[in-house]
Formats: sequence, structure tokens, C-alpha cells
Amino acid sequence: MSKVKVAFFDFTSCEGCQIELTNLGETVFMGLLDHIEIVEFRETMAERTTAPIDIAFIEGSFSRESDRPRLEEIRRRAAVVVAYGSCAAIGGINALKNHQPDYADFVYGPASLMPHLASEAVKPISDIIKVDYKIYGCPVSKAEFVRVVSDLLHGKTPTIPNYAVCVECKMRETVCRYALGDHCLGVVARAGCGAPCPADGVPCEACRGFIDHPNLPSLEKGLRDKGGLPADRAATKTRMWTAIYRSEA
Ligand code: SF4
Ligand code: SF4
Ligand code: SF4
Repeated sequence: MSKVKVAFFDFTSCEGCQIELTNLGETVFMGLLDHIEIVEFRETMAERTTAPIDIAFIEGSFSRESDRPRLEEIRRRAAVVVAYGSCAAIGGINALKNHQPDYADFVYGPASLMPHLASEAVKPISDIIKVDYKIYGCPVSKAEFVRVVSDLLHGKTPTIPNYAVCVECKMRETVCRYALGDHCLGVVARAGCGAPCPADGVPCEACRGFIDHPNLPSLEKGLRDKGGLPADRAATKTRMWTAIYRSEA
């Protein structure tokens, strides 16, 4: 039986989610290669393909109209498209620029006029093409990636959690950051990562974005009253990875 053809493509991103795969370790990676054939993955190989693909993992957000034809062409060729990482799934950190029109000047100063810095409002990939599944995280969780690939290979629909990081945090019996006088966004953050940050003694920053219907007023109150953040900090604390959900410019 021929192997499942898998390709990785990058758009506006740091490519950290692709790099994360190179950290899978030899045993897991070679095990995957028993079942899949990687036909494009520029972090590790020079070959490119224009042939049909079984699974396309798309990393990075959409920030240039000139990227649209490439995205549409990937969609035409791929049986399954997965938005891979928070940049692709929810715009990620890139979406911060949507709220700061002078960001290029702010970051690059006089160099901001360089043509390759010209970009438009950041969007998740699903705003441009049909996306079948989303893997969240900045970077993605390696374990979740393997789980999704395994599900797809077995013809199962991958399960992407829609419950809070707190659930996984409790399952590993980590002492809550709030109980230690700290703050944490795990109450509204989408699980699936295994809650590594609180386990390592730092707050969850919601790098996987929000669960559906997060109670943000309650979170903000908790950040103020229990987490000790000043009101202005509590109001903007979630913005790093969830700027896409905000409408104010
Ligand atoms: S989600 Fe994070 S690690 Fe992945 S490409 Fe975007 S910025 Fe990099
Ligand atoms: S540390 Fe964070 S993720 Fe863990 S239970 Fe507390 S609020 Fe939830
Ligand atoms: S605990 Fe929070 S910040 Fe850490 S990986 Fe999970 S979602 Fe991201």
C-alpha cells in the first residue's frame, strides 16, 4: 500500500511549528515515516512538489493578498488541509499588528518602507480557504500532532479539545497559580497541550487561543482580584495570542 503523502507549507510565521517536528526524536519521526511520505518540508529537504497531496499542513497566517493564489492552489491539490499552529489557526501573535496601524514604523523605524514589510490585516487561514482541521499552539504540541496524524491515518476525525487548560492542569495535579498568588489564563485557554506551563511554574498565556465562549469578564475580574494585576493589565492580558478575537483597532 502506498504511503500517505504529507506536505508542509509556510506563510506568515516564524516556522517554529515546523521546527518543532524536528524535535520529535528519531524513534517517533522514523516511526511516522513507516506510514507517511513527506513530499515537501523545507526545514529538512530541498524537494518541492506540484502533485496531489493527501494531507497539507499549513503553517502561518494570511497577511498578503499575493499569498492567496498559493493557498488556493494548495487547497486544490490537498485532500485534507490542516491549519498548523496558532498563526494559521487563529492568526496568532501576528494578529497583534491589526491593532497597531503604525507597527512597521514602531518596530523597524526608517527601514519600515522596505517593500517586503508591506502587509495587510492578518487573518487565519480558514478566512481564505476551507480548512478541515486546526491544530493550535505556539508552537504546536508534538504529541497532539502525532495524535492528529494517527487519527487521520486510521480514518478517524481528530479530536481537538474545546475545554479549558485547567482540566489538563488538574489531571496532572499541578498546584494552581492563583493558589500561589499568581495569575493564569488557563481558565479560558483551549486545552490539548497537556498544561505544561503551570507545571513548569509559569502561568498559561493562552497560546492556543480561547475555548469557544470564554467568560472574559470573569477572567478579567479574577486577574484583578485573585491574580493581583492592575486593571489596565488585566484588561489586555489575553491579547498576545488572541488579538484576532478583538475588534477594536
Ligand atoms: S504559532 Fe508560534 S511557533 Fe508556530 S509559526 Fe506561529 S509564531 Fe512560530
Ligand atoms: S494554574 Fe492555570 S491552568 Fe492550572 S488550574 Fe490554575 S488557572 Fe487553571
Ligand atoms: S499551558 Fe497555555 S501557554 Fe502553555 S502551552 Fe498550553 S495553552 Fe500554551
